[in-house]
Amino acid sequence: MAIQIKKAARIRQLPPYLFAEIDRLKKEAVARGVDIINLGVGDPDMPTPAHIVQELSRAAAEPANHRYPDYEGLESFRRAVSGWVSRRFGVRVDPDTETISLIGSKEGIANMAVAFIDPGDVVLVPDPGYPVYHVGTCFNGGVPYPMALRRENGFLPDLEAIPPDVARRAKLLWLNYPNNPTASAASREFFSDAVRFAERHNIIMCHDAAYIDIYYDGLRPPSILEVDGAREVAIEFHSLSKTYNMTGWRVGFAVGNAELIGGLGQVKTNVDSGVFKAVQKAAIAALDGDQGVVERLRATYAERREVLVNGLREIGFDCPLPAGTFYVWTAVPPGHTASSTTKRILEETGIVTTPGTGFGAAGEGYIRLTLTSDTARLAEAVERLRLLRF
Ligand SMILES: *Cc1c(COP(=O)(O)O)cnc(C)c1O
Repeated sequence: MAIQIKKAARIRQLPPYLFAEIDRLKKEAVARGVDIINLGVGDPDMPTPAHIVQELSRAAAEPANHRYPDYEGLESFRRAVSGWVSRRFGVRVDPDTETISLIGSKEGIANMAVAFIDPGDVVLVPDPGYPVYHVGTCFNGGVPYPMALRRENGFLPDLEAIPPDVARRAKLLWLNYPNNPTASAASREFFSDAVRFAERHNIIMCHDAAYIDIYYDGLRPPSILEVDGAREVAIEFHSLSKTYNMTGWRVGFAVGNAELIGGLGQVKTNVDSGVFKAVQKAAIAALDGDQGVVERLRATYAERREVLVNGLREIGFDCPLPAGTFYVWTAVPPGHTASSTTKRILEETGIVTTPGTGFGAAGEGYIRLTLTSDTARLAEAVERLRLLRF
């Protein structure tokens, strides 16, 4: 006999899937035989560098790696993380208390709310922003408060504009630079202001640094941990996914305040058993190995940025120059909305883009395109868009 199955309130309260309409149109286009150019997904098109893959195969053959890993990560992995942080940012983190391995940074980002958010706690989230900050908060009964990222502020939140009663009730704040979806960057001065804000209002500062090594024009983005006092209030999430083309491998890490790392660790001991040891060994090879692979990756995205941004501007799009990430965030033509623009582009040119509103209400007026296709494909996309009359 069938039973009545009712999903939990946290699932029932999820907003309707915003990309359902786009998915439907995409399927229709594929069925019509349209040659789709997918500038929607944020997943690198290039393979993981060979030396990292080789280390995985070597480590996968070792029986010692087949057993349960420790949830906090191998000591050798945490040492490699600490070394990388020190070389890259000039900051020392204790491998034992100030680092933790993650099954991709998304896991840690979602579990931050499990560790620190009680029902009714306010969480300050960027809008537009990576949806996990919002969803993780809601899943745990927290209340997200959107901080609008506006172009006139360089897509940085205006922390001083947050109402005092909201700041007082806020428990945790999310930042993400280089930023998905706006492709903007933050300066060390901005991070310094943010840390002072967190100190003043007793707020846990979380920085999602998934794109910290995908930047342009030689402008290396800072870590929030470079700021004085950050270690007392902040945790930073890192990922190998974008830096080393390893999205499918599920490995990342968090560094920063020992109590915050410890809280996250307490969740993890209870819900997961860490990252496959062979994957951790491969991650060590990535962090310790030749960083020329990352330099070449940046050069590739830079070439692609030229083609797409110049092309879009030439045909009349008002498109800010990305400072980092592999996204292009462009204003839609006057008189159109994010969703009407994505729909028309898909129906009339076969190009998949993402409406800015998929990342929050303040994403209205913008669409996001990705640089995870080669220059020929991006040039083809520009040619198709040129024929579109808005
Ligand atoms: C891709 C992405 C991540 C997560 O990457 P993982 O593969 O889970 O490490 C985190 N934050 C942002 C903003 C991203 O775009």
